Amino acid sequence: MTDHAQYTPEELKAIREQFLSDAPPECPRCDLHMTQRPIGGGSFGLGYARRRDWLICPKCHRSAIYDIKRGTRN
Ligand SMILES: [Zn+2]
Repeated sequence: MTDHAQYTPEELKAIREQFLSDAPPECPRCDLHMTQRPIGGGSFGLGYARRRDWLICPKCHRSAIYDIKRGTRN
């Protein structure tokens, strides 16, 4: 039993690319839109513009965390 399944590095890269291009990320295994949850960004008073996004597939429950800087482009 693998109740803590993970994406492969290839899959993580594909999801990240969708995420960066403002497309709704989809689970490469289930073809479902992933749930997005922001982590940090205030709750700990970190005070920097960085934020983590946690993407979770509602079906297989694999998840991916991306530390992506946004909103600072000129
Ligand atoms: Zn999935």
